[in-house]
Amino acid sequence: MIELVFADRCTACGDCVATCPTNVFDFGVDGRPVVARQADCQTCFMCELYCRADALFVAPDCTGPTPVDAERVRAAGLLGQFRRDSGWDEWSVTHANEHWRMDDVFRMARTATPPPST
Ligand code: SF4
Ligand code: SF4
Repeated sequence: MIELVFADRCTACGDCVATCPTNVFDFGVDGRPVVARQADCQTCFMCELYCRADALFVAPDCTGPTPVDAERVRAAGLLGQFRRDSGWDEWSVTHANEHWRMDDVFRMARTATPPPST
């Protein structure tokens, strides 16, 4: 689920607000996004992919919120990692699409939607 917006990196472009399929964000008074409806997050990572400022962090657990320390996320180099390792946008030239953080989401989807019987 979406966990963090790093205001010091955010350029207030609004792309994450426009991209989120479940309307998780509102605009704050400073024009930057705030997580207004975390429970509606699908853990789709689209906001991370579209944030060219690497100002968002989505934790891979799609079942509920994850306690995260913002400075540890920053220090661990996790900001922008999913975007880069997905070969998104400017990274498409140098990085393959690994989609490694989607494992849990895809696993749950397979469990929830068994293949049609033949
Ligand atoms: S991970 Fe997906 S559903 Fe969750 S806030 Fe980002 S764009 Fe919205
Ligand atoms: S996409 Fe990134 S830079 Fe743009 S408003 Fe959202 S968090 Fe800020």
